[in-house]
Amino acid sequence: MSPRPADISGPSLRSLAPLRTPLRCKTLSVFSTPTARIIGMHPYNDSRQASLQAHFIVIGGGIAGLAVAYVLANAGHHVRVIEKRGLGEPAGGLRVPPNLSKILRKWVGADELKRTAVRCVGSPFLDLATDSRVGYIHWKPAVMEETGGEFLMMHHEDVHRMLYDLAVGAGADVLLDTSVVAIHPGTDALPNPSVSLSNGQVLTADFLIGADGPNSRVREVVLGEDDDAEPGGTTVYVASVPASEMRADPTLREFVRTDEWPIWMGANRSMCGHYIRATNEFNITLFMHKNDPDAQSGEEGWEDVILSSGLDQSQHGSSVQKLLKLAPKLVRTRFMRRPEGVPEWIDQTGRIVLIGEAAHPWFPCGTHGASMAVEDAVVLGRLFSNLRSWSQVPSFLSAFQELRQARCDAVLESDVANARLVALPPGPMADARNADMHRQLDDWDEGALKENFEAIAEIFGYDAGDAADEWWVDWGRFGNKLDEGGPGVHLVNFDVQVVAVETE
Ligand SMILES: Cc1cc2nc3c(=O)[nH]c(=O)nc-3n(C[C@H](O)[C@H](O)[C@H](O)COP(=O)(O)OP(=O)(O)OC[C@H]3O[C@@H](n4cnc5c(N)ncnc54)[C@H](O)[C@@H]3O)c2cc1C
Repeated sequence: MSPRPADISGPSLRSLAPLRTPLRCKTLSVFSTPTARIIGMHPYNDSRQASLQAHFIVIGGGIAGLAVAYVLANAGHHVRVIEKRGLGEPAGGLRVPPNLSKILRKWVGADELKRTAVRCVGSPFLDLATDSRVGYIHWKPAVMEETGGEFLMMHHEDVHRMLYDLAVGAGADVLLDTSVVAIHPGTDALPNPSVSLSNGQVLTADFLIGADGPNSRVREVVLGEDDDAEPGGTTVYVASVPASEMRADPTLREFVRTDEWPIWMGANRSMCGHYIRATNEFNITLFMHKNDPDAQSGEEGWEDVILSSGLDQSQHGSSVQKLLKLAPKLVRTRFMRRPEGVPEWIDQTGRIVLIGEAAHPWFPCGTHGASMAVEDAVVLGRLFSNLRSWSQVPSFLSAFQELRQARCDAVLESDVANARLVALPPGPMADARNADMHRQLDDWDEGALKENFEAIAEIFGYDAGDAADEWWVDWGRFGNKLDEGGPGVHLVNFDVQVVAVETE
């Protein structure tokens, strides 16, 4: 089925144009490709059991750690998660874009998701100082349907708890309130890595998964060097306010009248808000960029709770001021850049692997921090659901990084660019952005439609399970056949496997 242009046209999508960055990853052309290609051609078999079962220790029980624990335990592996904090830690809202919501829907079902999630219908772009409307993106159901998921808004804690229940339900052992204090890679004589815990225990496994977030200790072991983080110029503040109090206020009522995700645009500062915990609370997230007085403070991480009364309110219109009055406390976190990036996700012994923010530290409260973490988990878990022989492991791990790194880099670039775009200081660039957001339906032509929709499809239409399964069908299973045919044949990269396919 080809999508009908009439379904996806509208002034709203036009305003998405400046919000995207061209992606270097695989292009999904929705106008020339059947819908099945976007939604996923391969059946997504979440219950495939690995014939060789391995022991995994996952360091960090955040979104990435619990998701990978679930997928691996579901495939029959033995999984232990070590998490230094507990459940129900202070947090704010998560946008759950279609590439994530389709995974959660498969895991818990649409009804369970609906208990805590709200479907986002659109995003008004507002002036931070005056609340006046500059533009609007309508997240049209027909467009979202083509991506195979929905754009949902949830509380971080609800997603975290859902993943905790899934992981434990699948048989993973999750140890809360316990830190990993030291990591010991294996040696030639004993390749198994181990970890020392804050409770004095030392645990050994076949593999360690570093899911310990942006400040990862496991990353330092993998890279063999200290973290080179430096301030990235942005501090982010999150809080939630009771929706009932907003409904009682004539200025704030309009933000809880519809299921929207409003974005207030200021100079070096922006704010967004949306429903969380179904329609019971409203999350607010403030982004302060370089040159903003509140941008140069805080630490990376989610442990810093501050009083909102200390924030500079001079740029805020009445609605933002009122929202902040309803949120006396805010969680503060800081964006840190790693100038060298994270070039290696797998250590030299081939037994320690990074996922989530440990592999690709994210822009705090970007749209895709959680979605990339869960996609990582699905891809890694799906690859290891094919495990039959230890000799497959190097190809699985290199495939994991190969499949994930380019996508994460491109989506991060887009998340950062979008955050900066809505906080441009006054000037020609802000004027051009506003003019673009104002443009009307009749400006659209087929070319613009295609371009915008393809950009959406690339990010939202991705199916992590399909990506792993396609790799397995195209490359992985041939490695397996050769493995069985002759001892010592060991495929670790794509070039070798191309030759193998041709000579079959
Ligand atoms: C408490 C908390 C609240 C958050 N709230 C929001 C939010 O409101 N909005 C938003 O967009 N994003 C939020 N995030 C970030 C979001 O979860 C991530 O961007 C994304 O989901 C990627 O997750 P991750 O699992 O890779 O990293 P993280 O979510 O950072 O998880 C890493 C986990 O590893 C644990 N850990 C770290 N070191 C150790 C150690 N030595 N031993 C054991 N455990 C360790 C941490 O406690 C943490 O739970 C929050 C993260 C946390 C931890």
